[in-house]
Amino acid sequence: MTDDCIFCKIVVGKIPSEKVYESDNIFVFMDINPLSEGHCLFIPKKHAATLHETDDASLAEIPLIIKKVTKALDIDTYNILQNNGTIAHQAVAHTHFHLIPKPSADLGLKMEWDPQDEIDQEEAAEKIRNYMN
Ligand code: 5GP
Ligand code: ZN
Repeated sequence: MTDDCIFCKIVVGKIPSEKVYESDNIFVFMDINPLSEGHCLFIPKKHAATLHETDDASLAEIPLIIKKVTKALDIDTYNILQNNGTIAHQAVAHTHFHLIPKPSADLGLKMEWDPQDEIDQEEAAEKIRNYMN
């Protein structure tokens, strides 16, 4: 629990939320400003600001619970969004995954996809391969 984190306060019930599920590791609740009906958030209970700082047990569990919630909502078109860092549109500095149902083209997550033709990926690929081995 981090005192100045609103999601830590939601986990312990100091701030109310529309909770839908919790386990030892994770907590799931409805987004207060939904992009579409069913928009919900999946968070580790243990505070971490970003994905790369998050405990492995929570990270392993979250996709499985997202899958289960898609069944509960009976949806087969949706986006999973996970932002890290302010310039990457992270507003709350406690790791969270959005499940955003996409019921139609004009509802849910809207994206601007802007591929950069001039970028050479070789160097980054080499960096990743070297780290993995
Ligand atoms: P981010 O931009 O950080 O990926 O998204 C943060 C999300 O948290 C937003 O969709 C916002 O609506 C949601 N949010 C922020 N504060 C609260 C809150 O107090 N309660 C709930 N349920 N959601 C919140
Ligand atoms: Zn927190």
